[in-house]
Amino acid sequence: MDSTQGDNEFTPFRNIINEWYAKDTSKKIRAVKKAKGMAGEHIGSHAPYGYRKNPDNLKEWLVDDEAAAIVREIFSLCVEGYGPTQIANLLTDRKVLCPTMYAVSKGLKQPSVIPEVPYQWNATVVAHILDRMEYLGHTVNFKTHVKSYKVKKKIDNDPSQWKIFRDTHEAIIDQETFDIVQKIRQGKKRPTKMGAMPMFSGLLFCADCGSKMSFHRRVDEPAEKHSYVCSNYRRNTNACTMHYIRNVVVEQIVLDNLREVIGYVSQYEDEFIRMVMDTDVRQRNKELAKQRKRLSEIQTRMKELDNLFQRIYEDNISGKLSDDRFMKLSKGYDTEQADLQEEQTQLQKNIQQEE
Ligand SMILES: [Zn+2]
Repeated sequence: MDSTQGDNEFTPFRNIINEWYAKDTSKKIRAVKKAKGMAGEHIGSHAPYGYRKNPDNLKEWLVDDEAAAIVREIFSLCVEGYGPTQIANLLTDRKVLCPTMYAVSKGLKQPSVIPEVPYQWNATVVAHILDRMEYLGHTVNFKTHVKSYKVKKKIDNDPSQWKIFRDTHEAIIDQETFDIVQKIRQGKKRPTKMGAMPMFSGLLFCADCGSKMSFHRRVDEPAEKHSYVCSNYRRNTNACTMHYIRNVVVEQIVLDNLREVIGYVSQYEDEFIRMVMDTDVRQRNKELAKQRKRLSEIQTRMKELDNLFQRIYEDNISGKLSDDRFMKLSKGYDTEQADLQEEQTQLQKNIQQEE
């Protein structure tokens, strides 16, 4: 196709050929990569931060002591309770080179975009390090795939599609530490809305309007700011005033109170037991008195019903009350009496038991 004339005619055709070729090459490269990956070889172009490729055998990863120390520190900070953002801030403050700039400084990478601040760590990078099984000494292949030879964007594979090859290189993190970190991270990833229920939820009431205090928090807020707010006010700001109490304050009050009670109990154990028993007895006596009162009410009403029945019976005999009316009234009295009889039996049984 050296004729300049034919060039234009053939261009579309050549483009198609080129495309086929690119597709085919891409397929071949992927096939080779896949075969390597299935055989447990490292298929990434770089070793993860903390490792370096052995210059004598590029398939082999060696521990990079300088970066490995940072990886270990990141894991132990996580175990100590630091979140990825806090860890990132810590490393940034200490001017530790971020993984990309570290690789650049070692001549391993020529990134398309060079970070503005070479020490700028972020939570995503830290979280990614905390997730990597590679630090246990395992090779994990096929964590991502590219959509096609045209779209280079990496797409995450489901972990069920990963191929894991154990003990292919020296570990930086021990299994125990790694497991603890995964547990901590799982806890963090759970949606906060479904997370731990606030301890006093449903137990606090507004002193002014008596409605429930509802728990209120924002994801980005520190725990000290979580608070209970009058739900009446929250629904309608005119209904009550802005009553709120912070969760930490409630916890402190309850804790102080508990301490006081426990202190009292340990000092005056006998008095405390007597007090609790007294309260219990008083409570039960109150309940008993209520039942006795109801019982006497029932008995009075039953006597009344007897008298009423007597009267309508006489009125019916004397002709003052029609048979129809008599039947209706007597049926009503009968039903009421049967209900009362049942309640009376139940109450008598309860009272007898209590006594
Ligand atoms: Zn209120």
